[in-house]
Amino acid sequence: MHGTTRDSFSSMKDRGGTALFRSLYSAFVSDTGRTGLGLYVHIPFCRVKCPYCSFVVYAKRDHLRHDYVTALIQEMTLRAAHAREDHLGLERIDGRLPLRTLYLGGGTPSLLPPQALERILAAAHQLFTVSPDCEITVETEPGTTDADSFAALVGMGVNRVTIGAQSFDPAHLARLGRVHSPEDARAAVAAARSAGVGSLDLDLMFGLPEQTLASWQDDLAHALALEPDHLSLYNLTVEPETVFAQREKRGQLALPEEELQAAMMRAAIQTTEAGGLEHYEISNFARPGHRSRHNSGYWAGTAYLGVGVGAHGFAPRGGRHGFGVRSWNIKGPGPYIASLARGELPVDEAEELDRDASMLEALYLGLRQRGGLDLRSYGRRFGVDLVVSASSALESLASQALISIEMPHLKLTEDGVIIADYVISRLAGYLDTTGGLDTVKS
Ligand code: SF4
Repeated sequence: MHGTTRDSFSSMKDRGGTALFRSLYSAFVSDTGRTGLGLYVHIPFCRVKCPYCSFVVYAKRDHLRHDYVTALIQEMTLRAAHAREDHLGLERIDGRLPLRTLYLGGGTPSLLPPQALERILAAAHQLFTVSPDCEITVETEPGTTDADSFAALVGMGVNRVTIGAQSFDPAHLARLGRVHSPEDARAAVAAARSAGVGSLDLDLMFGLPEQTLASWQDDLAHALALEPDHLSLYNLTVEPETVFAQREKRGQLALPEEELQAAMMRAAIQTTEAGGLEHYEISNFARPGHRSRHNSGYWAGTAYLGVGVGAHGFAPRGGRHGFGVRSWNIKGPGPYIASLARGELPVDEAEELDRDASMLEALYLGLRQRGGLDLRSYGRRFGVDLVVSASSALESLASQALISIEMPHLKLTEDGVIIADYVISRLAGYLDTTGGLDTVKS
């Protein structure tokens, strides 16, 4: 924290500022979380493990599916009963926690038979007070769905699906190790539409091995021709301990240069906006009324529960410091199922955010959204006037046209979005935060 920020925090603290911060923070979170929490349900099964994937997923574990779903429901039951509403920042309705969004992700949830998905959704309705406009999303992989499976999803109340197309170029799909074709993705979109899915998201990736700008523009054109309500466009990153990481180490992964990746991001923004989708978060684009409410909850720092192997949950008013506690589950379907069979929550670790960690996280999540960081709420929450404490960085970034201030919002410009990590880290440096996370092994 530089001069003014440290000074203003210290003087507030001397006057009992810590308590004041906590109460302001609590009021903020209570406001944003009042309408309910998000529930993330992790389905870790995939047909194959893609060579770039670092998620907690498993191929060839089909024999565990039934017991896994039983364990998921057991975990939902325990969490619904024992989660502390004062830590989540919301109140029970008729004794049950209110649910605003439900997201079945993975992995490949669409590999589960409809009866299994129905068991999960029925349990959610029984255990939580599901709001009438609850967003219910299911991730699907092309080639694992048809008209009947989408109709079954719609019949059980699913109102949003994501379809992991990734690319419309068979050569890129092969390099990514995907086991579906572009035709499978088109068939999935047509089937979802004919089944009456309310909101349809397509996922694409760019920055792929041997990808050119022209082939990425083709992918964008193919995607937009399908008229999705939402696009998620992810820049491929090589994660440790993946097959791609090994190939990169051996010099066998020909990824596009940084400048070309930046040109791809720029093309994505311009093409999708011309196609009528609003760029509302670094990787996300939506037609009006089709933003992901579940992911928006993550970016706003509101409460969510996560069930399933490796799933994360966040209680924004929990922890010793009052700035939130995040916890995550053990990996491995076998140990997960065994833990719940013993009646124990399968928590691996938890981390308690202190004020510094929370400030950094809010800065990062706020600036990733094109609507920007609300400086007034940020100031109320943390007792920091960012315009004052980071004035020299803000001036310098504004003179390079990387940020703009449209009170009360601090926003990344289009150039700023292209190098968002750099811009955000420049600003974070001016917070001069020293603390971070207290990790608690379960
Ligand atoms: S389908 Fe998705 S979750 Fe499954 S291995 Fe491939 S990238 Fe990972």
